[in-house]
Amino acid sequence: MDVYSALLELAKRREIMVIDDASFPRSIRGFYSRMGDKHMIVLNKSLSSKIGPLILAHELGHYQLHRHKIAMDLYAHKDKYDFIEDEKYERQADAFAKRLVSFVSIA
Ligand SMILES: [Zn+2]
Repeated sequence: MDVYSALLELAKRREIMVIDDASFPRSIRGFYSRMGDKHMIVLNKSLSSKIGPLILAHELGHYQLHRHKIAMDLYAHKDKYDFIEDEKYERQADAFAKRLVSFVSIA
């Protein structure tokens, strides 16, 4: 199983809805959103096969690390660090994503 499929499976097991064919401007890569206990990750359909898994893993990081912390439940990403509610959360989600992708890659 490729990394992206493994991450999708992980999201499915946590009942996170993933929509990965959104027609956003290229500058918006994706976001994580929560409404109550419903979780959703929306990704730009233009993401390359190289970047897609990283963005999905980053949004899973927001789910894992920040879902109980964020008041405004929306993290949209243009480019790295340029749309920032809280830069610390972005760094944490990036670090989580790198670990998750490398873990899934060797699993
Ligand atoms: Zn983020």
